[in-house]
Amino acid sequence: MKYLFSRSGLAALAELDPDRTLFAFDFDGTLAAETRLPDEARTDITCLNALKKLSRKAHVSVISGRRLQDLRPKLGFRPASTLGNHGLESPWSKKTEQQASRQVNHWLEALHEAWPFARDRGVFIENKRSSISLHYRLAKNPARARRRLLKLIEELNLRARIVGGKFVINLTLPKAPHKGTALLQLMKRQKVKRALFAGDDVTDEDVFRLRKKNILTIRVGRKAGSAAQFYLRDQKEMARLLRHLSLSF
Ligand SMILES: [Mg+2]
Repeated sequence: MKYLFSRSGLAALAELDPDRTLFAFDFDGTLAAETRLPDEARTDITCLNALKKLSRKAHVSVISGRRLQDLRPKLGFRPASTLGNHGLESPWSKKTEQQASRQVNHWLEALHEAWPFARDRGVFIENKRSSISLHYRLAKNPARARRRLLKLIEELNLRARIVGGKFVINLTLPKAPHKGTALLQLMKRQKVKRALFAGDDVTDEDVFRLRKKNILTIRVGRKAGSAAQFYLRDQKEMARLLRHLSLSF
């Protein structure tokens, strides 16, 4: 992993042609500062303004784990495309969304029936219609809550794709598109050959792991084991990246 504002990082950015590149970003922890609860999302105005500017010059997309209904008002402007539920909520995946929402209802029923955290309100279920997020950041003992959640999922035999994250366990339909497949689909539909993608969490690794030469990948925060090519030191550097891109086009 190399620092993005290094010589090789800047050279990789300089190669991007705004007319032929898709600029895609995760939301929480990437365009917005990380928060304790999903409702809180602290909007980073500097960052969003820079993103808005970039969107006048290039195709900008936001691919988030949030529901679209929840994501869009937080952006404050309409990028060329927004995908929710880790890429499942898109204009071309209505059928899979319906399947996922039926499955999610079954999972919710099973989870609520067996829920062992009645006395720990720091562990809670977020129903995102096409997927579920189990949050445990505010649990009395987060590490123990995580273990109990994973055990519960196994016992209930939910047959979901389980993707971890920062104090969250996401349950999605195993065959549903993830951020990686969603980005490839978007590139195909936009007829662009290249993309830049930035994210900060486990679900973003689905893009990083594609390891495609034509996709420049950036992780917010350096992390051993991440498949991203470049990293930014923290979320605050995202505004710098967006301004850098806007100014060079
Ligand atoms: Mg994130």
